[in-house]
Amino acid sequence: MILEEIKSQYSMRDIVGRYGFHPNRAGFISCPFHKSDRTASMKIYKDSFNCFGCSANGDIFTFIQRMDNCDFKTAFYSLGGTYKKPSDSSKLSVYRYKRAKEKKLRKEEQLRARLQHNNMLLGVYVVWLKRLKPLSDAWCDCMNEHTKCLGIDEELQKELERGVRIGDEAIKRV
Ligand SMILES: [Zn+2]
Repeated sequence: MILEEIKSQYSMRDIVGRYGFHPNRAGFISCPFHKSDRTASMKIYKDSFNCFGCSANGDIFTFIQRMDNCDFKTAFYSLGGTYKKPSDSSKLSVYRYKRAKEKKLRKEEQLRARLQHNNMLLGVYVVWLKRLKPLSDAWCDCMNEHTKCLGIDEELQKELERGVRIGDEAIKRV
């Protein structure tokens, strides 16, 4: 079992039960980590414990570690924990996935930068169109550039959408 599986399989109550502790109706046990705790100061929660007397606290693994005086690994194995060594092929696919994702992000960044630049130009032309005499030569030039920018904007937007889609597919394939 991996860590998450163990955590979902054992509640804190199960673990303290293994050591002969049975929480009272309020969910407290006598704290095993400080001397003669007659008032039962350790609260047992769903997946953690906390002592109001000596402030010992932690999760199921911490409890075992402290009870058995062992390290995390030993506690983990004692609950049936196993480590899965990633195989070479899974490492490769992780690598490919990362590469594909990076590539997609880079492409998106470039497109966004171009869009931003184009938007800036558009803004400039809009200002000039207002200032210039309508239908003057300069105004007409400005209008042409403005129209061009609108076209570029549309194209970049489309490319961005397409790029994101293709990028997502590439990521799914690896
Ligand atoms: Zn305590």
